[in-house]
Amino acid sequence: MPPLVSPPSPPEVENRVTEPVPFDRAVTAAEVEIGPTGRPMPVIPEPQPYVRRERARVISLCNQKGGVGKTTTTINLGAALAEYGRKVLLVDFDPQGSLSVGLGLNPHEIDLTVYNLLMQREVGLEDVIVPSGVPGMDLLPSNIDLSAAEVQLVHEVAREQTLQRVLGPAIEQYDVILIDCQPSLGLLTVNALTASDGVIVPLECEYFALRGVALLKTTIDKVQERLNPKLVVDGVLGTMFDGRTLHSREVMDRLVQAWGDTVFHTVIRRTVKFSDSTVVGEPITTYASSSAGADAYRQLAREVLDRCLDG
Ligand code: ADP
Ligand code: MG
Repeated sequence: MPPLVSPPSPPEVENRVTEPVPFDRAVTAAEVEIGPTGRPMPVIPEPQPYVRRERARVISLCNQKGGVGKTTTTINLGAALAEYGRKVLLVDFDPQGSLSVGLGLNPHEIDLTVYNLLMQREVGLEDVIVPSGVPGMDLLPSNIDLSAAEVQLVHEVAREQTLQRVLGPAIEQYDVILIDCQPSLGLLTVNALTASDGVIVPLECEYFALRGVALLKTTIDKVQERLNPKLVVDGVLGTMFDGRTLHSREVMDRLVQAWGDTVFHTVIRRTVKFSDSTVVGEPITTYASSSAGADAYRQLAREVLDRCLDG
């Protein structure tokens, strides 16, 4: 992919949004509201009435770049799906344990983690799963111990399928399982992709965000070919979007050119509320329930429900 050099400026987003159209005439093309991704903004439907899924959909949040919003999206998408009544399990699959910390756990005080589940046959899911503090949402926590698993798994039989095997019993107990991946494309991430039905790729709306995406796509394609034929990309999510800057909009345009309708219409704007909510160990949906950030993740939850969970 060529580097992002400044193409001609697109018109201001604000100028493209018009006044509400009177009811008594059809909407002309120029009056269709353009969303932050530069595409016409569809009406994202309200979730279907809750029906318990027979099998959870397993979704990995994956990007080998750090600091793009994987953990933030895992916590807040999970919390928003739980608000809509879905039973959610979050899997912290990053040895940094940010997801566990972001939900108020002290990494040194966690007895059993995903590491024990992966490496010790006698440890079961029920020994490791803890409540997240959000009703309807549980957590499989992690800490630095998990970094040893990457090395130890290399010697295991079916090393790429280990997470899939240990998550097996959870598939019937939850509607959705979100796996927060570490920022690398190593064996842990391959395990997450092998255990998943779908992948959500969060991408920071910054120059160079698109670097490395081709490699990520190649990894997803390889896992799909060799280990997990059902794996699909559920969506690409623009994060830390700033509509006032030209380059945020340029990155969004490039994302849509490259990934088309795979790009979610929802984008997550840049706001300090996300780091604040991490400090208190809560999702933004409870910490700042009526904030724009909380609403953005609720909208993302409706898009995800509509795309790949309901029906
Ligand atoms: P990753 O898991 O991909 O490494 P994080 O979700 O941990 O990324 O986000 C990295 C940092 O950016 C964290 O400090 C987080 O609070 C902050 N952050 C995440 N999303 C946003 C956002 N939309 N606006 C501002 N800060 C954000
Ligand atoms: Mg993270």
